[in-house]
Amino acid sequence: MDEKRTTLIYDRNQLIAKLTWVFFTITVLTNALVDPLILVYIIPAGLLTCLVMTRVARKDRVTENSMYVAVLTLFLFFFFLIQIEPILLNFIFIWFALLLSSIYHQDRPILLAGFLTVACTIYFFSFYQEQIFPNSDPVDVIYFSLFGLFFTVFLIYSSRFTERLRERAEQKEAKTSDQLWETREYLESFFNHMTDAVVVHDRHGMIMKVNKRFEGMYGWKEDEIVGQRVPFIKEESVDEIYRLWSRLDSGQSDYEMSHHTKTGELIDVSMTISPIRNKSGEVVALATIAKDYTERKKTEELLRRSEKLSVVGQLAAGVAHEIRNPLTVVSGFIQLLQQNQKMSPEHFEMIDSELKRVNTIIGEFLLLAKPNDVKFEYKSILPLVEEVVTLLNTTAVMQNIKIFLSYDERVPHIKCEPNQIKQVIINLLKNAIEAMKFGGSIYVYVGSYHDDYVRIRVVDQGEGIPDDKMTKLGEPFYTTKDKGTGLGLMVSHKIIENHHGQLRFVSKPNEGTSVDLLLPKSTHVSTTDEVQISK
Ligand code: ADP
Ligand code: MG
Repeated sequence: MDEKRTTLIYDRNQLIAKLTWVFFTITVLTNALVDPLILVYIIPAGLLTCLVMTRVARKDRVTENSMYVAVLTLFLFFFFLIQIEPILLNFIFIWFALLLSSIYHQDRPILLAGFLTVACTIYFFSFYQEQIFPNSDPVDVIYFSLFGLFFTVFLIYSSRFTERLRERAEQKEAKTSDQLWETREYLESFFNHMTDAVVVHDRHGMIMKVNKRFEGMYGWKEDEIVGQRVPFIKEESVDEIYRLWSRLDSGQSDYEMSHHTKTGELIDVSMTISPIRNKSGEVVALATIAKDYTERKKTEELLRRSEKLSVVGQLAAGVAHEIRNPLTVVSGFIQLLQQNQKMSPEHFEMIDSELKRVNTIIGEFLLLAKPNDVKFEYKSILPLVEEVVTLLNTTAVMQNIKIFLSYDERVPHIKCEPNQIKQVIINLLKNAIEAMKFGGSIYVYVGSYHDDYVRIRVVDQGEGIPDDKMTKLGEPFYTTKDKGTGLGLMVSHKIIENHHGQLRFVSKPNEGTSVDLLLPKSTHVSTTDEVQISK
């Protein structure tokens, strides 16, 4: 017998036992008023019946047979009752017993009860007709028995029907609970195997649930954090996040901020907060899905560094190459000296120029290699430009070139490392001079550009740069000059990048080149500090 059937029979045995006790009590009470003498019989017999029923209804006694024992005991009691007091009222209790037997919703106990009912009817009709059924015909026993039979059949069918209904309801319930379980499992596995941390909390930040990834990412275990306020928001973001929670009614919201973990470490997360609603649409909780992008940031930084390293590597190879040529020349001359060969002044000039070249290359490199030493100052750009122009003017004049400087009335300050910016302007002016083999004019303009930049524009009338070479500008060692290093623009780019500025070229071959150097305006000093220049 399976467990389900056992509990079923057990439940019903219990019910019958209880009903028997109730019935017994009522019988005793009514008879105490009406016919106290009969209690002498009823009390022992009834007590015996009730005890048997209680015993049958015990959990460890539940068997298929317990049903028959219960039915039989009931009938025995009523049979006894009628026997000692054969009246119609008592006889009717036989039918009551038949009715009770249908409690099991099974054919056999009902059939047994039906059989006993008919047997009792015939018995009492035969021996006590006068007392129980006065004024009746002896043939009436047939009708009584038939009635018992029909009643039995009716009970069988009606109990089969209710049993079917019960089974169906049970199946449905089992199915629904299965489905519910599946959905729950599904969600749970989804929740716990997500690669992002999920934390569910109410609008006051009280945590209801976190997933496994959350534990890994933040360090708090679920049982130590559930029921607590979210502990990972930085103090300065608390107000902001509460405001966000309180107005999060429609749809989700994406956010980026730093959180701290249990150990106090800061992590950068991008998070999506979405409301969870109940059936009537009220927001009952908020789900925050957080993705840690600290690692991504670190990787990016690594990538940037390795890129830098590869540029340095590339440069080193180039430098070796660039320096080796002049050194070969110098060492050639030294060999000549060793052989006591005579050296002409031109030879010394060549040695000198080659060594200068090595020096220039190394000089430019030092600038690149020491970006950490730079000290930024708030400076007016104009004096810097003027200095450079003065410095290069002699060289220019020697090549038949005139440099014209003009500037806006008010030029904002910039935040810069003055020597580096001078270096850049020298590079630009030198390139302009070197591009103008046949002389001409160079115009330098200093002024504001849009609202945020200071612009230094250098316009020459030189050979220009072909379109297909534009992208090569700033590549290490790209030069079209015999004595060029191809490092000037590269270094300039680097410096300008560190200043968050830009370098822009516009050029037409054989007409000239215009270079714009844009540097961000400083917000540090007030306008009164700006240099006032009258033209
Ligand atoms: P270098 O001056 O040593 O050649 P740069 O990096 O300063 O190295 O310049 C690289 C190259 O860019 C130059 O060789 C030249 O071909 C081109 N270039 C730069 N500025 C100008 C300019 N104003 N006019 C024409 N060409 C230029
Ligand atoms: Mg140059």
